[in-house]
Amino acid sequence: MTTENLSAVLYSVNDIRLENRTVPKAQKNEVLLRMDKVGICGSDVHYWVNGRIGDFVVTKPMVLGHEAAGVVHEVGEGVTHLKPGDRVAIEPGVPCRSCDYCKGGRYNLCLDIVFCATPPYDGNLARYYTHAADFCYKLPDHMTMEEGALLEPLSVAVHACRRARVTIGQKILICGAGPIGLVCLLTAKAMGASSVIITDISESRLEVAKSLGADHTLLVSGEDAETLGKQIAGKLDGPSDVTIECSGAESSIRLAIFGTKSGGVVVLVGLGPAEIKLPIVNAAVREVDIRGIFRYANCYPTALQLVASGRVNVKPLITHRFKLEETVKAFETARTGAGGAIKVMISCSD
Ligand code: NAD
Ligand code: ZN
Repeated sequence: MTTENLSAVLYSVNDIRLENRTVPKAQKNEVLLRMDKVGICGSDVHYWVNGRIGDFVVTKPMVLGHEAAGVVHEVGEGVTHLKPGDRVAIEPGVPCRSCDYCKGGRYNLCLDIVFCATPPYDGNLARYYTHAADFCYKLPDHMTMEEGALLEPLSVAVHACRRARVTIGQKILICGAGPIGLVCLLTAKAMGASSVIITDISESRLEVAKSLGADHTLLVSGEDAETLGKQIAGKLDGPSDVTIECSGAESSIRLAIFGTKSGGVVVLVGLGPAEIKLPIVNAAVREVDIRGIFRYANCYPTALQLVASGRVNVKPLITHRFKLEETVKAFETARTGAGGAIKVMISCSD
């Protein structure tokens, strides 16, 4: 077996280095994975550009990457449901399993969760990586490794749509047509939404949304949120039942409230400034429920089934492909959005 484990390590702001680390051993209940495809997420880019996200600060070198799929190379003691050669999607956050949140099924809220490429924990943009075996999901033969990697953002969408209680026949507003807004669009449609409108400040992203099945799009550019809310109601034939905010921009969260019907739900997925100004009395007196989401819990199996069954096609999200050795170029592409980049995928196999 090779002893080489080329890994993409973030040292500090704007400093990604490719270095050889040792190949880890699979411990009890773990698998050693030969990494295959790793997608670049906005948060990876954010750590690279800013060295931190909120209270999570890169203080020591950290391997990047958490949207990933790999092939089981070795199984540790106690692993019975996987064997060498199995292709798996990797759910990147492994919680403590014993706190009240974990026991209650909301393990995404666990304070001791170990999440790939959230400091201080290493991610899996590397040739080899070990992970808890029960957070690895075997892919059916007809699913690609890239689809496996995309189960990560798709799980965010499944969680957001579940928290919103999206159901058949609904009108949905999605704010922001980045990768997360787009997977929310696909998921809401798969869950039976009858009409979806999506906003963005970029016409090209709206074009992609249209090609992925958005019923309506709205290009926003600094108009007043209340006015935009009325435009949305015009296009949807009434305000939305559910709004999923996926930009984090203050003006967009304001629109999310104004665009939602009384008694409806706004789910905040986008994470922008820590404090912003909102029409909170408007939301209160119209009983618009505002719900946050943090990643996902118990969503990987559903995301996998959505793709495996053909209900959701995530393949069109991938616009660029790079090799592990080209990581910096891949990050540059994701950062600038050059060439209409949406999801940039890195291949870790030789
Ligand atoms: P992204 O930056 O690629 O996409 C954001 C999109 O919003 C872009 O297309 C941008 O043009 C658009 N936008 C910006 N301002 C806008 C406005 N005023 N109105 C409408 N659209 C606007 O990011 P992404 O990867 O798609 O992620 C979206 C957001 O979700 C980010 O804030 C990210 O941090 C957050 N996120 C949250 C969770 C969670 O667990 N809560 C998980 C993943 C991502
Ligand atoms: Zn816990």
